[in-house]
Order: sequence, then C-alpha cells, then structure tokens
Amino acid sequence: MKNWLITACVAAVLVGCKTSPTGRTQIALYSEDQMAQMGSASFDELKKSTPQESNQKTNKYVQCVAFKIIEQLPQDLRKLEWEVVVFKDDSANAFALPGGKIGVHTGLLTVAKDQHQLAAVLGHEVAHVTARHANERISQGALVQTGLQLGNVALQMGDIKYRSEIMQALGLGTQVGIVLPFSRSHESEADIVGLQYMAKAGFEPSGAIALWQNMSEANGQRQPEFLSTHPAPENRIKQLRAHLTQVQPLSEEAKAKGISASCGS
Ligand SMILES: [Zn+2]
Repeated sequence: MKNWLITACVAAVLVGCKTSPTGRTQIALYSEDQMAQMGSASFDELKKSTPQESNQKTNKYVQCVAFKIIEQLPQDLRKLEWEVVVFKDDSANAFALPGGKIGVHTGLLTVAKDQHQLAAVLGHEVAHVTARHANERISQGALVQTGLQLGNVALQMGDIKYRSEIMQALGLGTQVGIVLPFSRSHESEADIVGLQYMAKAGFEPSGAIALWQNMSEANGQRQPEFLSTHPAPENRIKQLRAHLTQVQPLSEEAKAKGISASCGS
C-alpha cells in the first residue's frame, strides 16, 4: 500500500477542513486558485466548442440578472473575474464554475420564463461555486483517484483524458458525456443559499418555485438537461416553500435599500 499517500491525505484533510455557508464541515483540498484555474480552463474549452448567442438583448438580460446576484456576494467572492456567457444550445441548462464563470444555455430561457425564475437558477448555480461544492467533490476522490496533479491545470487541459476528468468533476458532465450529479446535500444547500442571494438582489424568491414547476411540466415533453443532474422538482419545491418565510426579511431589506430587480423581463 502507498502509505505515504494515506499520510499525505490525512494531513491534507486536516488542513483542508472548511465550513460551508449552511454550517456543514467540508473537505476542500484544493486552493481557491487551483479551482479557479480549473474553472477558467474548462470555460475556455466550452467557449471554443459551443456557439454563443449574438442577440444583444438576450445577452444584456442574462448579464443583468447574473450581475445583480454577484453584487450581493461577500467581497472576496464578488472580486472574482466573473464572466457570463450565453451559449446557443436548445437544452435547458446553466452552470457556474469556480473562478466565477457562468454559462447559460438559450434553451433555459424557455423554461425560466422571467427574471425571477432565471435568478433562481443563477442563484443556485452561483451558490454551488461559493459553497465550494466542486472542490469538495474532487477532494472526495473524483480526481484524487486518477492521480492527477493539479500543478499546471492549463497544461493538463490539453490532455483529453484529464480535460474530461476536470470538466466532469466541475459538474460539466453533460458536455463531456458522463453525468456526475452533485450530491443531495450539495443540491439542497445550493437551493437554500441561492434563495438568499436572489432575495438580497431584489428578486422574488417565489420565482424559484415557479421555476421548478415549469421544469416539472417541461419534463413531460422533453426532459430539461438541468434535471438530469438535479433531483426531482417535487422534493425541492417542498424544501423551497419551507425556506420562503426565512428569506422574507432579506427581501424586505433589499426593498428598504432601494434594490429592485429590473432586468427587462
Ligand atoms: Zn445544482
């Protein structure tokens, strides 16, 4: 057995213990810098391989909603190099990567029918980033098992094997063919934290429930891609309803501060 590896992992676990936004203890072995590198390199890869929406109005609208949420993040997260890209893709999907890279598929805009619903998706995705879910996931083994050293992520992105591993670990499974959903605890944490973000940004938190109802209805015709990596809408609607009253004060605070959601749709 590779004893040195076990010792290294134990030591790394000790230094890599963090607390998530909802108070869970989490293992995050990789530095924020390494995660940001992985996110940026994967995002560049996607931008090369996926056409982008050229419609100005659509881009402005999505950017507006995304940046209203980003503005509400704590200073250390707000200062990331946030980038928001609308990809021309009919599947209903969106993602956010470490380092502050957000991708929205045009297909999502037919399911997330107004700014509040879009804010619900983006709040949820941004929460996956701020709660370090990708770091936690790869620390739990997704990349450790491959023996991948993350010293030079950009270089490793040139290696198709590692590129797929990295993108998969970041939750971009559908793009590389292997779906690796976030765990239930990550999903419900992203729902709760995402709801707080949208409320603080002046969006209607009830938009989250409307969104999941739409997802559920769309599921009858053609499954939204988002649902392939996310648990059943019925369960999350229940949890979201339970949290609506808790984020009400945040909504009122936003109103009192004059923060209002107005992104045009
Ligand atoms: Zn999620």
